[in-house]
Amino acid sequence: MPVEPMVFPAHSRPLPHLALFSLTFILTLAGILARPIESLSLFWPVNAVLAGVLLRYPRLANPLGFVLIWMAMVGADLACGSTWPPALWFNLCNLGVIVTIWLLLSRLPRLHRRMRTPHGVLSVFGACAAGAMVAASMACVMAAPWFQESLRATWLAWFSEQFSTSVLVLPALLTAPNTGALLRGSGQAIRLAPMLVLLASLALSIAFGGPGAIAFPIAALLWCAWTYSPFLVSLLALTAGSTLIVAVAQNLMHFSVPQSVPGVTTLMSARLGIAMLVLGPLVVACVSNTNRSLLARLAHQATIDHLTGALTRSAFTRRANALLDSRQQHAQALPLTLMMLDIDHFKTINDRHGHGVGDQVLRQFANALQDQLHDGELFARLGGEEFVVIIPGLEPERAKFTAERMRRAIQDLHLTHNDPRLQITVSIGLDGCTADTPAPSLDELLVRADKALYRAKAHGRNRVEQAEPQRQVV
Ligand code: GH3
Ligand code: MG
Ligand code: MG
Repeated sequence: MPVEPMVFPAHSRPLPHLALFSLTFILTLAGILARPIESLSLFWPVNAVLAGVLLRYPRLANPLGFVLIWMAMVGADLACGSTWPPALWFNLCNLGVIVTIWLLLSRLPRLHRRMRTPHGVLSVFGACAAGAMVAASMACVMAAPWFQESLRATWLAWFSEQFSTSVLVLPALLTAPNTGALLRGSGQAIRLAPMLVLLASLALSIAFGGPGAIAFPIAALLWCAWTYSPFLVSLLALTAGSTLIVAVAQNLMHFSVPQSVPGVTTLMSARLGIAMLVLGPLVVACVSNTNRSLLARLAHQATIDHLTGALTRSAFTRRANALLDSRQQHAQALPLTLMMLDIDHFKTINDRHGHGVGDQVLRQFANALQDQLHDGELFARLGGEEFVVIIPGLEPERAKFTAERMRRAIQDLHLTHNDPRLQITVSIGLDGCTADTPAPSLDELLVRADKALYRAKAHGRNRVEQAEPQRQVV
């Protein structure tokens, strides 16, 4: 299983646990201060945040960690004037949410746990529901002395609050990129349109009102889902969901559940509806993210030769033709040189040392050549041990010196292999055009360079040959 990133050094155990205690204490205080006296908090994100932290940093998820979380919650509750029995029991209910979610998700494979698959998204929803059920059931045990409502109302209040908050908060923690990836992505431009439409649809929901208005942001959330990363979609779902919950709690949306449904308040019903509303966009975000990375991998495989890191033949043909076309469009055209390179007697390396060593040699040959090239110069593997280089801007008279430098670099290359006698040489054929020559086609250049290469082989290998001066070329 891949190693999780560590926010704390593995050797300093007291420090991460102290941080865990402080985080719990501060979040609990914030939750208590934000709630109306004697009633459940509008948001109690502590449980979901801590479950997320433990899932991301599994070294903290041990008996000591769980006890510290409970102690910090109880401490914050007592500091705010609560008495011992409810502080101990209701924070045990909170701990129940964290432990349940952790138990259900920590054993999942990393891809599921980080919500990279629809299976993972549904598992997180299921774990949030289970955690909320455990807390609601535990809360009912001690409900009578502290809550005036019926058991049914207490259970539903706890369940709807814990489920909706966990479903909104936990995905943001599980999909958050590691610090390195976050920094790498921070400079990228981001499309604003889906986000702005989401904000507009939230405003419309509140302005229009009524129970159906809760679903207004779905279209915008789906647009966000196939545009942005799962992490950003989770943050937007959290923003949209919490806005709607506050709007319902403040009666800004002007609807209420009929009193004939005992124990169910408008807020409970809205919370559950909002929690379910974000499920679809989160699944779409994860599926489209998978598709995007699959397409990027396919495009990479079609462009880059996996063994040598050089361009593939098809990518080379596309780029070389584009280069020649753009050259044709300029009155003052650039000179250009094309070289064909073929490793000498490569078959004997395979025969003597095996195909694996042959592959290593090809890789080292390609690296050595790439070291000789600059940005904007094309380097491709045409097949087997045949390569091609195009150097725009290189005058044909100077091309032979450049090719000689490459030939020497390969001759002097120290191959990292057990046998110090293992050495390679390369034969090079080249063709090119000066600034005032009409642009030749790619095929013409390749054929002429190939003929020059054939002569280099015929004249003893490990040498450079230029194409016959048929046009005003080298
Ligand atoms: P010459 O000097 O005339 O070019 O001789 P050569 O042996 O280099 O040329 P030849 O075309 O006879 O042999 C090329 C060899 O390259 C044959 C083939 O097995 C080997 N080859 C082609 N692709 C690969 C590859 O991806 N890995 C390895 N290890 N060998 C490869
Ligand atoms: Mg060869
Ligand atoms: Mg060959």
